[in-house]
Amino acid sequence: MAVDLKDLKTIHYEVENPGENGIAIVTLDRPEARNAQNKRMTYELEAAFTDAARRSDVKVIVFRAEGPHFCSGHDMRDTESHKEFSLVFPYGGFGREGQEGHMAWEEEVYFNMCWRWRNLPKPVIAAAQGKTIAGGLMLLWIADVIIASEDAMFSDPVVGMGVNGVEYFAHPWEVGPRKAKEMLFTGEWLTAHEAMQWGMVNKVVPNDKLRDAALDMARTIAKRPSFALKLAKESVNQTLEAQGQWNALRTAFVHQHLAHSHNRVKYGMPVDPGPSNRKKD
Ligand code: ZN
Repeated sequence: MAVDLKDLKTIHYEVENPGENGIAIVTLDRPEARNAQNKRMTYELEAAFTDAARRSDVKVIVFRAEGPHFCSGHDMRDTESHKEFSLVFPYGGFGREGQEGHMAWEEEVYFNMCWRWRNLPKPVIAAAQGKTIAGGLMLLWIADVIIASEDAMFSDPVVGMGVNGVEYFAHPWEVGPRKAKEMLFTGEWLTAHEAMQWGMVNKVVPNDKLRDAALDMARTIAKRPSFALKLAKESVNQTLEAQGQWNALRTAFVHQHLAHSHNRVKYGMPVDPGPSNRKKD
């Protein structure tokens, strides 16, 4: 079933000042679940981003979150069936046994959805507060500009769960190879100022100024010509692609599925259950 933009349950979607300088504001709105990404949120984001991309009365997109945290990652308690949603990408094999079904699903909701949003034809300005963990980083990294509040912290701890990192493996592009390795090997937090120092975050602002800082930048950008903005964004993105970004992301995604397969064979589940739950070899 297609998502109805008038009946959103996991996000807010509004357009400020629709017209020549319009700004779409897409807000994660599951603060009770630390904005964990479930299937419904994924398809609601897809519907909102696509609408904002297509509308000629929107020039810039602000991407933010309600509550104390931007996003805690994938929702492990999601019980809705994928059959509730209209799939976006042309993969078969959902629900098939083995790694085939699992990989098809992660192609749809993680890898290709993030790549699609990363290529939206309008500037996306994200505002991140509190914790952004694992899958939450993938959502944040689709933005062109990231503004963080003083309390923002970022971590991808999933090497501890027996995989190489999140499905949209942009760490080396976001913080450089050394810091990426430190993040992945240790699972430790990057503070807002560290994230800025390493190039992942554009600026850090006081917590109570975060929303305004993102909107202020969006309003400044929205006064500029839409086609030039689109071409500037594409020029930067194409520079990354010329450096091999898509191939690198794709290879890391396939490695992730090698790790999931390994864990299924060894532990009967897609992730390593951790030292205290591991069966002795
Ligand atoms: Zn995965």
